[in-house]
Amino acid sequence: MMNALCVHAFGGPDALQLTQSPIPSPGPGEVRLKVEAVGINPVETYQRAGSIPSLPLPWTPGTDAAGTIDAVGPGVEGWRPGDRAYTSATITGAYAEWTVAAAATTHPLPAGLTAAEGAAIGIPYATAWRALVQRASAQPGEWVLIHGASGGVGLAAVQIARHLGLRTIGTAGTPRGAELVQAQGADHVLNHSQPGYLEEITALTHGTGPAIILEMLANVNLAHDTQLIAPRGRIIVIGCRGPIEINARHLMVREADVRGLLLFNATASERQAIHDALAPGLATGALRPVISQSFPLAAGPAAHTAVMQPGAAGKIVLIP
Ligand code: NAP
Repeated sequence: MMNALCVHAFGGPDALQLTQSPIPSPGPGEVRLKVEAVGINPVETYQRAGSIPSLPLPWTPGTDAAGTIDAVGPGVEGWRPGDRAYTSATITGAYAEWTVAAAATTHPLPAGLTAAEGAAIGIPYATAWRALVQRASAQPGEWVLIHGASGGVGLAAVQIARHLGLRTIGTAGTPRGAELVQAQGADHVLNHSQPGYLEEITALTHGTGPAIILEMLANVNLAHDTQLIAPRGRIIVIGCRGPIEINARHLMVREADVRGLLLFNATASERQAIHDALAPGLATGALRPVISQSFPLAAGPAAHTAVMQPGAAGKIVLIP
């Protein structure tokens, strides 16, 4: 038996209950990971609260984990017990001492990365890469505004944007977050809780506006984004926690696009392309997740509370 966090009834953070569960066995095409770290993502709090329908209960959350492969199912090639790996999609849930994932969604953990860093790759780096490359078709030299750069996806986007030769403006809501965004390579950092920062974005881009905006909180910012974006620019909606009214005329006159992104919509080949593209940067250290806080597995409720609080400064992980 193993420790796992299980949701038996949807609710607040305390709905995550430490439970004794059977250690899962990998089926055909699957591997089992001895989990050393788990990445906490905001989506798991929405799922835990029951706002994403049709999840069968009881349910162990989590897609992102890293550790050591300790069993491989029939037909798996390329993985052996003892290999270090991270996964970006589990079958049995990541918030546990062991997890089973498809071999196809399990990736080598580069030698220089800790398990905690590996657990911070799955959703954040894949989302940031999909946003910049697959949705925005970013070109070297373009200006990108990462509107909410201090969290898991935002810091990944800062690093990837730098790696791709983009010019970046990142925003954060606290001095600590702003320092981190600067340290990860943003050309300019602004505080999204200070009045007047939007005018600075226009000035920094010499009046043109950013060609790309990665938006982490569209329900607050989209109406402003439609006025900031450069002609023929692309606004990528990554995070949105409610409705917002916009004046579509701002998009019309700029011939600008608002494009949604949902990582779960990526096809298997798009996902594979993302993780293949991330691998060289992760291996050299050009891309390296930033961990803000670690919690033991039993403190899952505290981790869920923390991930929804303002003042992000990287990723929150659980250590089983
Ligand atoms: P996170 O680590 O909790 O970071 C949240 C970010 O939002 C922080 O940088 C935070 O900055 C920023 N923020 C807060 N208030 C803001 C404002 N007024 N304007 C701009 N940014 C603001 O979360 P994450 O993992 O990076 O994810 C970010 C969002 O994207 C979440 O809503 C998540 O659910 C969503 N997401 C969606 C997808 C998808 O497939 N569409 C994938 C991954 C994530 P401060 O804390 O410094 O204020």
